[in-house]
Amino acid sequence: MSTGHYDIIVIGSGPGGASLAHRLAPTGKRILMLERGGYLPRSRANWDAKTVFVDGAYQAPETWHGADGSTFHPGLHYWVGGNSKVYGAALFRLRERDFGEVRHKDGVSPAWPLGYDVFEPYYTQAEALYHVHGRRGEDPTEPWSSAPYAYPPVLHEPRIQELSDILTREGLHPFHLPLGIKLDQNPDGSATTYSPCIRCDAFDGFPCAVNAKADAQVICVDPARTAHPNFTLLTGAYVDRLETDPSGRSVSRVHVIRDNQAEQYSADIVVVACGALSSALLMLRSASDAHPRGLANRSDQVGRNYMRHTMSVVMALLREPNRTVFQKTLALSDYYFGAPDWDYPLGLIQMCAASHGEQIRGEAPLPHLMSLVPELPFDKMAEHSIDFWLQTEDLPNPGNRIRYDGDRVVLDVKDSNLEAAGRLKDKLRAMLVPMRA
Ligand SMILES: Cc1cc2nc3c(=O)[nH]c(=O)nc-3n(C[C@H](O)[C@H](O)[C@H](O)COP(=O)(O)OP(=O)(O)OC[C@H]3O[C@@H](n4cnc5c(N)ncnc54)[C@H](O)[C@@H]3O)c2cc1C
Ligand code: SF4
Repeated sequence: MSTGHYDIIVIGSGPGGASLAHRLAPTGKRILMLERGGYLPRSRANWDAKTVFVDGAYQAPETWHGADGSTFHPGLHYWVGGNSKVYGAALFRLRERDFGEVRHKDGVSPAWPLGYDVFEPYYTQAEALYHVHGRRGEDPTEPWSSAPYAYPPVLHEPRIQELSDILTREGLHPFHLPLGIKLDQNPDGSATTYSPCIRCDAFDGFPCAVNAKADAQVICVDPARTAHPNFTLLTGAYVDRLETDPSGRSVSRVHVIRDNQAEQYSADIVVVACGALSSALLMLRSASDAHPRGLANRSDQVGRNYMRHTMSVVMALLREPNRTVFQKTLALSDYYFGAPDWDYPLGLIQMCAASHGEQIRGEAPLPHLMSLVPELPFDKMAEHSIDFWLQTEDLPNPGNRIRYDGDRVVLDVKDSNLEAAGRLKDKLRAMLVPMRA
């Protein structure tokens, strides 16, 4: 059994844990990062739509349960860098009003105990660290900021610039989507010869085979490992449970399973950064006599109030082929807090990566009869498609929760604000007419 004492243990190497460890490593403190996953293997398959979206090759190989007994594979990714290995790297700040009470059609999103001003300096630092490219002043709902973006916006390709011009003529305010990407552009937006990012068609849910997406492994974990011998990363290290001292007030042991062996570690400070769902599960697994409902759960709030947005992808077909390679450069927040015909927030519209034929075949909810026709022209549809990602806030309902039922993980979630999500889709549909889609 391995043991060791550290100044700080960080559990989880996603953006939360990795950014913290990256910031602490220069202090010289002995830091141990425990990550259940390994390094995501780099290969051409990283950019293959079938591998990523249809086969779900990088997704956690777990089965969870819905409250109705149904089963599903959670959209989680256990790798060094966590979910940021496959994230879309659209790195927005919350709006200033989001920190106050926000009224939705289905209920109230309560005010945060802290305001935007407390977070602002950290947003600025995080944007610089994660290579966020953008331009201040374009997004009509963006909050105030103490500095410009450290990197210029990712420029639109001609069809997306045309779309931007059309939307502007319609009285809307399209803007450059803030993106975390290691891209150096020529004046026409193409990648320079020294740019890590080659501006390919796989920006979004694909892992980047050339490590040019600003994910937590590339930006934080690897630089910390290289520069700071006081920082140690253990992969394949699943934290099973946190044990407290007899008073129940501090964590005395971190119980780890690695290579099927039990190990224990301790630290002056233990940070749980396993992501929203897995952090709650760890606390619930750590129940003891002192904490019968789970660690830090006297309130019975651990695992509750789960939020995940209501999201949909809209694929519109253009009459002419869409030659855009890197499509995810534009967003629209005009309806984020409401619309002239609706007093409640609707949400955000952004472009997503161009659709691939295999992806449409595997993922799209096609009418049943259509999906029986094997020779449907999916590649042709992909060639003509222009693709949008719609995101509406949901509510932090206490009944929406993750919990254990014996050894089974149950995720019990009821959607909210569906009318707002539908209305946002209607707004997009109206925009498609002047786009010739
Ligand atoms: C497909 C996809 C696209 C997304 N796109 C965007 C986007 O465009 N913009 C945006 O802002 N956000 C996006 N997100 C969300 C974003 O990725 C997450 O908000 C972010 O990764 C959360 O960071 P985290 O550090 O809290 O947790 P995670 O990234 O989930 O990292 C948690 C880490 O903890 C590890 N872990 C879990 N349990 C244990 C355990 N018991 N022991 C040891 N290790 C453990 C996991 O393996 C993982 O590495 C996207 C997410 C997905 C899945
Ligand atoms: S667009 Fe750039 S960051 Fe994205 S996958 Fe291609 S090379 Fe990587």
